[in-house]
Amino acid sequence: MTEYLPQDNNENSLWGETAVAGPESEALSESLQADVLVVGGGYTGLSAALHLAVKGVSVVLLEARSIGFGGSGRNAGLVNAGIWKTPNDVQKLLGPDNAERFNLALRDSPALVFDLVERFKLQCQAERCGTVHVAHKAGAMAYLEDRCQQLQNLGAAVQLIDGDQAHAISGSPLYRHGGILDPGAGTIHPLSYARSLANAAIGEGVRLFQQSGIESLTRHNDRWLAKTGNGEVSAEQVIVAINAYADGESTRVRESTLPVFIFHCATPPLPAEIAASIIPQRHGLWDTDSLLTSSRIDAEGRLVMSSPGRLHGFQRRPRENWMMRKRDRLYPQLKGTPWAYQWSGQIGVTSTKILRVQLLAPGLFAPAGYNGRGIGVGTVMGKQLADTIASGNRDDFPFPIEALHREKWSKLRAAYYDYGTLALEFIGSRG
Ligand SMILES: Cc1cc2nc3c(=O)[nH]c(=O)nc-3n(C[C@H](O)[C@H](O)[C@H](O)COP(=O)(O)OP(=O)(O)OC[C@H]3O[C@@H](n4cnc5c(N)ncnc54)[C@H](O)[C@@H]3O)c2cc1C
Repeated sequence: MTEYLPQDNNENSLWGETAVAGPESEALSESLQADVLVVGGGYTGLSAALHLAVKGVSVVLLEARSIGFGGSGRNAGLVNAGIWKTPNDVQKLLGPDNAERFNLALRDSPALVFDLVERFKLQCQAERCGTVHVAHKAGAMAYLEDRCQQLQNLGAAVQLIDGDQAHAISGSPLYRHGGILDPGAGTIHPLSYARSLANAAIGEGVRLFQQSGIESLTRHNDRWLAKTGNGEVSAEQVIVAINAYADGESTRVRESTLPVFIFHCATPPLPAEIAASIIPQRHGLWDTDSLLTSSRIDAEGRLVMSSPGRLHGFQRRPRENWMMRKRDRLYPQLKGTPWAYQWSGQIGVTSTKILRVQLLAPGLFAPAGYNGRGIGVGTVMGKQLADTIASGNRDDFPFPIEALHREKWSKLRAAYYDYGTLALEFIGSRG
């Protein structure tokens, strides 16, 4: 495990404090058989397990820590469509045929998330209130206009908004240039989404174990055998859904992405009249600034903001202060309000900024590298893997399947990201 990962979800995390209860499963202590073993209790693994179980496939899910310990319990909760790259970028990298399947599969990812919420009555404060990619300066609109056009060409129901609309949606005097509104997107409580997906999966028959990290994964007589400290699971196929939180030496998934951090700060619940003046219709926002910042209001009226960087050691105080200065410029009515919560998490970044589905060996799938856009992507990925495994037919799988990829110089490049964001914060605070 990367040494600076926090050891649990309660790193003064808003989500850790306010989430619904998760399943009370025991650690694995026996020998089990399953059609499919899912390793990792984040959105990818949970969605895969749930969709497989609904199809009558027998599934065991093993989570090393607790459900939502990884990115799925720490993120900003913005349920967005697609990925960071534009549809045309995807086309350049994957070619026209692969790109079309890829882009279409992720175009409607918020619909899958909100459908699951409704179908399984997931308790996760889901609000399909729309999200806005907002311009932080007039010069950013050319990029957003082009991006919006590409999304519309794909059939996405997004629309360009002008400066007055951006101002009205955000309540910020600085967001007054325009943006892209996606009315079908929205927000969730991320850890509650993960935990309630787990509860739903158990309800459909998934045998789920926490505190059960796999320590080895070997092939015997055409089946996979995964061993934990006290038990083992034999399965025909395995989905290794451990992504940026890959732990243990049994897989090399961690080498396939760069570990990059994002941190959050959240206020206490705001007085009603102030909360009503900031993002009044509860959209999720993220801006075009080089130090991208997202903002949203949670169900109890707290402002939650995020930006790249980690809150480790000496970095913590300067980042919190930087975020407070940025917040006070964006929402001046909050001057003097302290932060009540601070936490961080790690995303898996790929050089291409496009996710990877790696086939490590026959029957051993390892998706990774969602580049910080994983609520919709992870949920779709889990469903698509479930459909493919259950049908035994890969023809309709919308993502290219490749061999294990290794990012070169990953530690060095991750440090460059980390100190680069600190430097940009420092330069910004002097400007
Ligand atoms: C701070 C932050 C903000 C983000 N904001 C957003 C956002 O607003 N919108 C969005 O769409 N995405 C966002 N993301 C990205 C999104 O959270 C992730 O892409 C997504 O949660 C990944 O889900 P996953 O299931 O693939 O992996 P994870 O949620 O990381 O789950 C992997 C799990 O595998 C477990 N595991 C690891 N090794 C083992 C082992 N050996 N045995 C068993 N289990 C193991 C881990 O404990 C972990 O629980 C953000 C991410 C972070 C960190």
